[in-house]
Amino acid sequence: MNGQLTRARLPRGTFECATRLETENGRPVFGPDTPESIPGNAQYVFLLHLPRGPAFSLDILWPHRETPPRPGFDYPHNANFSEVLAQVIFLQPRGGDWQRITAPRPRPFGVEVDIPALEQPAWLSVGIPYFACQYEALLDHLEQDPAWSVTKIGGSLEGRPLHACLRPARGQSRGLFLLTAYQHYGEWAGLHAIDALMRNLPPEADAFTWAVVPCLNPDGLYRGWRGDLMHRGDALNEEHGGNINRAWNPPCLPESAAAAGFFKNTAQADRPLHALDFHMGWSSPQHSGGGLTVYHPGEIDPETDAHMRRFTEDFFKTVPIQPFAWEHSRLNGPGATPWFTRELGCPAQTVEFSRFQAHLPGSPPRPVTPDYYRNLGPQIAECLILKY
Ligand SMILES: [Zn+2]
Repeated sequence: MNGQLTRARLPRGTFECATRLETENGRPVFGPDTPESIPGNAQYVFLLHLPRGPAFSLDILWPHRETPPRPGFDYPHNANFSEVLAQVIFLQPRGGDWQRITAPRPRPFGVEVDIPALEQPAWLSVGIPYFACQYEALLDHLEQDPAWSVTKIGGSLEGRPLHACLRPARGQSRGLFLLTAYQHYGEWAGLHAIDALMRNLPPEADAFTWAVVPCLNPDGLYRGWRGDLMHRGDALNEEHGGNINRAWNPPCLPESAAAAGFFKNTAQADRPLHALDFHMGWSSPQHSGGGLTVYHPGEIDPETDAHMRRFTEDFFKTVPIQPFAWEHSRLNGPGATPWFTRELGCPAQTVEFSRFQAHLPGSPPRPVTPDYYRNLGPQIAECLILKY
């Protein structure tokens, strides 16, 4: 709220990502300060640090415009996140969990939000961020757990350590699962899910080896869009444009190269069964942005393709995201999932979590909660274990 002054006093790995725009009807008006170079304004981030104090109101405005269709960019209606904004305003008082502010009033291109009196400083956010301190706590937890080994496999472009976590099977292994999350800053649902997955594997998981790079983009996690490669890359003149998930054919950024090396090593010692890469999708009132990618027809061998499509159907019975099998992947594409299939020969899919909508089987869609995102991790583990 106080710009640089507030930011300097925040704990390491937390940051504000909001701009004060103006004052209207006595209320301050804020917007996300993510640069406009990002295609689709669902990807902007809004995170505001509030000092303790009496109740007050503010407005959040969201950029509202149509993104012109781009060749090869096929996220339907990836714009106008302001239309779902009222569903995803959350407050986290210091030491507490995220709580949804349930009654924001819609206003043109945004919402009016009532902030209760705060006895502690708090975060106000669009969505439910996962902070770097949670990632550090996860690594500490896994280092204490004899079932897991945590290894530094390399560094990010800014020199932050990149960690991989390996949980070998007990006894004879039935095969290897390969998991990644957080290639893109702001896609924190994947971190919530993978954190809970790694902490809560059931006894049946012991029959398998689990190889995980939980955070592929530590610069984005610790510094927000300011540290994200995508905002420092050159989208016009570089093949990957700074986007880690376009730097896997061949792995050519420090992050993708280190992770590829780790996964290749683990796959030499155990049989790769399935790879999943966690992201957060696009958003529109017509689609939650959730889903699971499959290959375009004819891209991979028919047997693997049929297996992956059966897996996808069953996935949606266990994991409550919008049941959308998105024919998106090309075997020679630049992303992580085709790399897994090309290099390791296994099915590999991108999981897109919604930014605003929980899709629970047998009941209407509802707004997301922190526990909804966290529970996705164990639900995904259960699905993998059941299928293999
Ligand atoms: Zn992504």
